[in-house]
Amino acid sequence: MKISDGKVVSTSYTLYTLSPDDEFELVEEVGEEEPMLYLAGHSGLPPQFEENLNGLSAEDTYNFEIAPEDAFGEYYDDNVVDFSVEMFKIEDGKVPAGFLEPGNPIPFTNDDGARIQGRVKEVIDDKVVIDFNHPLAGKKLKFEGKIISVRDASPEEMDHGHVHGPGGHHH
Ligand SMILES: [Zn+2]
Repeated sequence: MKISDGKVVSTSYTLYTLSPDDEFELVEEVGEEEPMLYLAGHSGLPPQFEENLNGLSAEDTYNFEIAPEDAFGEYYDDNVVDFSVEMFKIEDGKVPAGFLEPGNPIPFTNDDGARIQGRVKEVIDDKVVIDFNHPLAGKKLKFEGKIISVRDASPEEMDHGHVHGPGGHHH
């Protein structure tokens, strides 16, 4: 059975980012024991990921790269914002220990009231630099993986737009 919209796909993969001079950096390793499941056409993954897997069958392997603009978008310097350290003194007038370590995720609410996540980039004196870019923004991605199984989605799964059962949603 080949992967197309409406199939439930189980796959193991390793995800790397590639620097401009094609140096690899490991981001995530999803093994065959605990594979990723997705409903083709509804995965929420970059469309190019699905396009590269469409037409493959169980046991097939894959290896491809996705440009930043087709993955998690470009890196925008405008998404890096300075805040006063005063804002983070939320525990008895102090910044909680370890709260502003570079790389730490910090929840924010934007002007529309939506929750967004920033990450601490650096702290310079009393200025905290927060990066609201996706952690993989501006990065070229490289996926290497193997299809473990492909099956038809149940009518209920199609209705919900996600996979049910082991590795999927439980209601
Ligand atoms: Zn469901």
